[in-house]
Amino acid sequence: MNEESLREKEGSKTPVSFIEQFIIDDLKEGKNNRRIHTRFPPEPNGYLHIGHAKAICLDFGMAQKYGGKCNLRFDDTNPVKEEVEYIDSIKEDIHWLGFDWEEREFYASDYFGKLFDFAVDLIRRGLAYVDDQPAEVISAQKGTPSQPGVESPFRTRSITENLDLFERMNKGEFDEGSRVLRARIDMTSPNMHMRDPIIYRIIKAAHHRTGEAWKVYPMYDFAHGQSDYFEGVTHSLCTLEFEVHRPLYDWLIDQLKKDDYRPRQIEFNRLNLSYTMMSKRRLLELVQEGKVSGWDDPRMPTLCGLRRRGYTPESIRRFIDLIGYTKFEAINDVSLLEHAVREDLNLRAPRVFGVLNPLKAIITNYPEGKVENVTIINNPEDESMGKREVPFSREVYIEQEDFMENPPHKFFRLAPGMEVRLKGAYIIKCAGVKKSENTNTIEEVYCTYDPDTRSGGHATERKVKGTLHWVSAQHAADAEVRLYDRLFNHEDPAGQKEKDYREFLNPGSLKILKGCKLEPSLKSARPLDKFQFQRLGYFCVDYDSNEGSLVFNRTVPLRDTWARINK
Ligand code: ATP
Ligand code: MG
Repeated sequence: MNEESLREKEGSKTPVSFIEQFIIDDLKEGKNNRRIHTRFPPEPNGYLHIGHAKAICLDFGMAQKYGGKCNLRFDDTNPVKEEVEYIDSIKEDIHWLGFDWEEREFYASDYFGKLFDFAVDLIRRGLAYVDDQPAEVISAQKGTPSQPGVESPFRTRSITENLDLFERMNKGEFDEGSRVLRARIDMTSPNMHMRDPIIYRIIKAAHHRTGEAWKVYPMYDFAHGQSDYFEGVTHSLCTLEFEVHRPLYDWLIDQLKKDDYRPRQIEFNRLNLSYTMMSKRRLLELVQEGKVSGWDDPRMPTLCGLRRRGYTPESIRRFIDLIGYTKFEAINDVSLLEHAVREDLNLRAPRVFGVLNPLKAIITNYPEGKVENVTIINNPEDESMGKREVPFSREVYIEQEDFMENPPHKFFRLAPGMEVRLKGAYIIKCAGVKKSENTNTIEEVYCTYDPDTRSGGHATERKVKGTLHWVSAQHAADAEVRLYDRLFNHEDPAGQKEKDYREFLNPGSLKILKGCKLEPSLKSARPLDKFQFQRLGYFCVDYDSNEGSLVFNRTVPLRDTWARINK
């Protein structure tokens, strides 16, 4: 980044986050030869969720804005939990969000050799030792934040013996859990992470990239900071829980570094979303226990779930902009995310007619067999989206909700003797109903239309209070529509000490409607195509959909129904 463009950025009016301010200051000071280099370091043990999107937008976003680079680095230090499926999905999701790592796709496992050599170097310098004690004992000796730890009896082992044992650990001579390598730092440190942390453990499982080459694997804390260092990362942006790890990362880099360069770690608050939870471990449980249909179930907070639900990358990036980056943990309101997607789709999604709970209305004075095409504007927010023709005929479907036989005062929809406009077509008046003999439910309504009231015609001055959406019965496309609601009915399902999060699963989070009637233009809609169903909400074509049997997911209703309930 050169002086001039930096000054330009500074002059811009949008306030910058504290992190961005650090970056600007570092650039001004000329640190790292004015290089900005970040990385996004996912562990490939699950699918990305919207929390990760917050980190991605920052890591890639800062690099983009300040002429830097952002690496994608998989933190694949635990061969037991990691899978190639996750690697592929993570890459797909980052691209979908709108970011790219170019040729810089790295793996912590790329550095297993260097990390091993560094561990050996620490042993040689008396800064690491092999501990033969079981995990429980090591953990008990750690002490508490107010009580110093107890030194291991193996802490004073000779360098020669340590070197020999560590090599043999890696040859597979010892069982998992029988020995670990620990950094020799300070058992009395007020920071628990500095009390001789474990840096290597024995794992006898094949690794997805290094196969059987290693029998010892570095702990995350030993791999993470050094990987940043090996890659020349200048700003290691991470979530707040790593703040307490920073002294350990610094200590390790102190042992490793040859000059002034070191990655600067800056922590920010996690994204927590109300009515859901972010932990990959728990999301995996939902998938494995069949509580949802998969990682991409449209109720999941995963990026693939949100995509299938109909969220756009723009709306997610906008939401992340709105919540910003701070030093305080909080729960972000999911209504804000819903607001962001409404705002985006309002401008971009064509508005179409779809009837979810159909009721047939027969217009008795409309000629049988006649079909007229009425012209409907695709999106009044954007003229360039044009118009389309929608067929109108004698029998149309309207929404059951839009008819009442004995309406209360101020019901401005259809009722016997009342008039409404069928949007884009005519004013109709209800003359009567047909009920089923057994159940007394309304099967059809009978109406008459006024031929002089066609929308856009001469006599359209006549005003009626209600306007309904409709679909011509003979032209309608049948569809299944999946109405999604929040997966949990508690704001913080995973944060309740006394109760398991499963107790808060919302039993009404998925309602499937069959036999919905859609205007015929939707027959050719493809998966992930997005629409506003007039008066109802935003909907998106599901992957299960095909021309013969359409399936739509509701992304969000037009208005926030939860806000009303909670008032
Ligand atoms: P989880 O706790 O959900 O399992 P994780 O932190 O273990 O997630 P990683 O794959 O290690 O998942 O995360 C990769 C990066 O994404 C890390 O830098 C982490 O700080 C960041 N990240 C993870 N969750 C969030 C979140 N909720 N908000 C912001 N950043 C997050
Ligand atoms: Mg993690």
